Amino acid sequence: MNNLEMIYELVNTICADEMGELKDYVSKKSASEIKATNAMHRILYRERTHQASHCQHCGSLAFVRNGKTKTMRQKYVCKDCHKSFSDTTKSIVQSTKKNYQVWHRFIEEMMSGQSLRTISSKVGISVTTAFHWRHKAMEVMTQYQTNERLSGEIQMDETYFLLNFKGIKKNSKNPLMPRKAKKRGTPAIKRGISNEHVCVLVAMDESDQMITKLIGQGNPLIQDFDKALVNRIKPNGTMVTDSKSAYQEVSKKYKCSLIQIPSGFHTLDTYNLGTLNGIHGEMKQWFQKFKGVSTRHLQKYLSWFRFEKYLKYQIEPEYRQKHSFRYIVSNESSVIVNTISKKPFPVDIYKPYPTLNQYFA
Ligand SMILES: [Zn+2]
Repeated sequence: MNNLEMIYELVNTICADEMGELKDYVSKKSASEIKATNAMHRILYRERTHQASHCQHCGSLAFVRNGKTKTMRQKYVCKDCHKSFSDTTKSIVQSTKKNYQVWHRFIEEMMSGQSLRTISSKVGISVTTAFHWRHKAMEVMTQYQTNERLSGEIQMDETYFLLNFKGIKKNSKNPLMPRKAKKRGTPAIKRGISNEHVCVLVAMDESDQMITKLIGQGNPLIQDFDKALVNRIKPNGTMVTDSKSAYQEVSKKYKCSLIQIPSGFHTLDTYNLGTLNGIHGEMKQWFQKFKGVSTRHLQKYLSWFRFEKYLKYQIEPEYRQKHSFRYIVSNESSVIVNTISKKPFPVDIYKPYPTLNQYFA
């Protein structure tokens, strides 16, 4: 029996007076639900019409208004692909059954770094829903201001995360995941940076434009940098980096001059990597609240971290919450919830752990 059927059944058990009260309650409640839903659609409509409007399916500019839904949501139909769409199409709130206030509270709690359990109890959604929504919201954040190119003095530095398999259940079938296999006293199999690590490139220019990208496994190669930086660097800047030789090729490719801080030093003339080292530290600390993030999803979290930094640099404190809410609900998210935990790893996890295969069987 679903909720509605249960309610119908209960309604049969109440007296006429109570029936009157119930009627009032329901009509008040539905008026406020519709009002809240409309508020959400008004925001989405406003945000999306700021951007060049286009068909949410094929990108065509040729579309016309095509009636409204029961909740007064504007619908459109595309003259090219003949599909219809509305203001919420492809947003994280598409086909949601929750209203504006619920989403508003969710984004507020999520952005303040609460755990899924806390979010779930404060917002009144299940932990699973909170998990799915967080993934949808992170997907939106990965698109934030990625058309801007870094210019002028650009500090660049790598940092490393250990491969993480969080979310893969330990059971009799897979009793030891690789991270458990390391016991106290056993010498580390490999010293320093190895293919048990993933490399994250952080770059920042003098106007606080920023890149936070998982670029590869172990020590990065020139092509790893290349993939991460394509269309993101304006020529004629100055790259400030560590002494890694790959940067020589990278700087040539982007027609930038190169200042490399020799290893063991913190500065060279007036140049240093101080800002970036600070950000690496902040980033590691920021990640602690999640108690480990699967490598599978690391890029999304890096984008979230970057989004927060932008908010801090660009938006006055009193507007940050509003800005993040509007950005997150009005931009595209294509996450399909039952594919989240099946997302392929961005690096070759069998390289350091050849026997891992059996755990994924
Ligand atoms: Zn279309």
